[in-house]
Amino acid sequence: MRRHRRAKIVATLGPSSSDEATVRALFETGVDVFRLNFSHGTHAEHRARHALVRAVEAEAGRPIGILADLQGPKLRIGTFRGGEASLAQGQRFTLGLGDAPGDETCVGVPHAEIFAALEPGAEVLLDDGRVRLRVAACGPDHAETVVLTPGILSDRKGLNLPGATLPIDAVTVKDREDLAFALGLGIDWVALSFVQGPEDIASARRLVPDDVAIVTKLEKPAALDCLEEIVDLSDALMVARGDLGVELAPEDVPAAQKRIVHVARTAGKPVVIATQMLDSMMNAPAPTRAEASDVATAVYDGADALMLSGESAAGRYPLEAVAMMNRIIEHVERDEAYRRYVHWQQQDPEATTADAITAAARQVAETLDAASIVTYTTSGSTAVRAARERPKARILVLTPSRDTARRLALVWGVHCVHTDDATGFTDMVERACAQALDARHAAPGERIVITAGVPFGTPGATNVLRIARLAG
Ligand code: PGA
Ligand code: MN
Repeated sequence: MRRHRRAKIVATLGPSSSDEATVRALFETGVDVFRLNFSHGTHAEHRARHALVRAVEAEAGRPIGILADLQGPKLRIGTFRGGEASLAQGQRFTLGLGDAPGDETCVGVPHAEIFAALEPGAEVLLDDGRVRLRVAACGPDHAETVVLTPGILSDRKGLNLPGATLPIDAVTVKDREDLAFALGLGIDWVALSFVQGPEDIASARRLVPDDVAIVTKLEKPAALDCLEEIVDLSDALMVARGDLGVELAPEDVPAAQKRIVHVARTAGKPVVIATQMLDSMMNAPAPTRAEASDVATAVYDGADALMLSGESAAGRYPLEAVAMMNRIIEHVERDEAYRRYVHWQQQDPEATTADAITAAARQVAETLDAASIVTYTTSGSTAVRAARERPKARILVLTPSRDTARRLALVWGVHCVHTDDATGFTDMVERACAQALDARHAAPGERIVITAGVPFGTPGATNVLRIARLAG
């Protein structure tokens, strides 16, 4: 159960991972944050999974993060009279507003907004881009299209309009209900899907209490046009390559991923790489070479966390997938070239006391070859800034807030202990040494670097750096 890595693992819970033994084993194998995916499953199922995670957490005595992922305005076609329809190349196919069952010539689309955004010549992608249509003519309640890429469509397949910005709120009526439900359960992160611009995050923020942090999923090309602003307003980012890869050409996804990681790391916002990381492990106990390399690349790039979706939720090998991800991360982080790669971009501290102290802590730890940087934090913000430095020393976070401890489970290199705040200087040092020893971050005789805010017990800026040596 002891973690020997900096990059974190997020795993989605689903039909393959909904019993207590599996959730416990997933945690023990390496999951740091569990994801409840509100695109699938009932509230009763999510409630049961949430309870299992909290039970495993209580048993293990270690904080575990829970991420509620809202479906967002995912566009879907309606149904077909026979359940499916086969489309031939070059044929005409009509999209019509409403929910009348379709056939080989037409299908209903229950979203008026898309007709407003369509123009002749625009492409419409169905079923993750497997079927492509080109709009020939359109009106406010219909579009006549020509089939460019044929295929078989079945009920409620996804619909994407590449490049279009739609007049749709990022938080739908279903999302509001799911969010209220998830907040009632008690979650640490909420993920917003299909964010198109900064205003989507601003309006979601009004629905989310202060102790729940927002992960913005980047899966719309429009969001990449205002990436810096979006990163600024978010608490964390997710490179949601599934939907992003439908609207962008596959060859454009890697550069988008690198750019998102770069901008997020510069801002000091945690960044999660998601989707198809070990996709073939849905049905096989070992990944492809390309998948292993993809996971490794995200680790070398310094991503905070890597995510499993179907692999852990609906695949045949959820535990093997987590074990494999864990091993790849550990091996990359042991590679002597890793430190050079992870520092591929310069991260200058910002002009704040917290950054001045955390940058100094990293420097001091490196100069003295200290084993651990021990950070006292209430809100968690100093811990996130310390992680932004991607220090060689481990980061041990001591926090009196259980919510903070859980939330930080997503953050690179951070190991959290929920404990009382220090009462004074002597207590600060003794407590830090004892916890570093207990977490096996430092051995007797080794040095640690401690950061804290004085006066103790009042949340506020970190302003103290202390070097200590463990007795022995
Ligand atoms: P999803 O988001 O799994 O909710 O679709 C991730 C992605 O699109 O990659
Ligand atoms: Mn998605």
